[in-house]
Amino acid sequence: LRARDEAESASRAKTQFLASMSHELRTPLNAVIGFSEILDRELFGTLGEQRYRDYARMIHESGEHLLHVVNDILDMSKIEAGRTELEFERFDFKPVIDDVMRLIVPRAAESGVQVSANCMNSIMLRADKRAAKQILINLLSNAVKFTPEGGRVDISAERENISLSLRIVDTGIGIPQRDIEKLGRPFEQVENQFTKSKGGSGLGLAISKSLVELHGGVLAIESVLNQGTTVKVTLPLGA
Ligand code: ADP
Repeated sequence: LRARDEAESASRAKTQFLASMSHELRTPLNAVIGFSEILDRELFGTLGEQRYRDYARMIHESGEHLLHVVNDILDMSKIEAGRTELEFERFDFKPVIDDVMRLIVPRAAESGVQVSANCMNSIMLRADKRAAKQILINLLSNAVKFTPEGGRVDISAERENISLSLRIVDTGIGIPQRDIEKLGRPFEQVENQFTKSKGGSGLGLAISKSLVELHGGVLAIESVLNQGTTVKVTLPLGA
């Protein structure tokens, strides 16, 4: 019993530490991001030398990336501490897909990956809308990130009995069978040239999986190495 109490209190301390560290990091980051953007846009006069502008842009991009990682850590620690409060509302999932497509398609095009969505009709859902969007963004970003130039990503969403069935299929690098099981735990990554070159925190999938499960849904991954990955999410439509 004592060992269990100690383990629980260590876990609480870790969660508390992550939460306050994330808060402390965000405040200065906002200054880094905001002021580097002002420099990059030369709002108060020219910087002169081109390299200064390049550096300002790089500071801005790195700041944005860091903020993203800090936000992921904060989300994950909230989920682990059981402090995530879902705000349920009724909404149509189709416009959420359209929104996310507008965000992802241009980015995917830059790396030569074609994305298409197949969702004809509206699908009414009772869920946390922000969480639903975050799940879709995370899964789609991964599909694009781990798909080499010339590949494709297809999204489909449909009603299946009392659930929404969402599939994200990519023709990317795939995941070795033995690694599929451990994915979805915080900070797990499969080492390959993409995780090395494109960065990432190893939290996107864990956050998505937890958010799906908080809704009473299931996230499943199927993959064939060098052929592609399918992530299937089943979410209860709700009352
Ligand atoms: P990351 O920040 O590394 O993308 P994620 O939690 O989103 O972290 O994903 C964890 C790991 O799962 C990735 O590093 C990658 O190894 C693997 N992965 C996730 N999605 C895919 C995919 N569509 N194709 C291949 N590997 C994937």
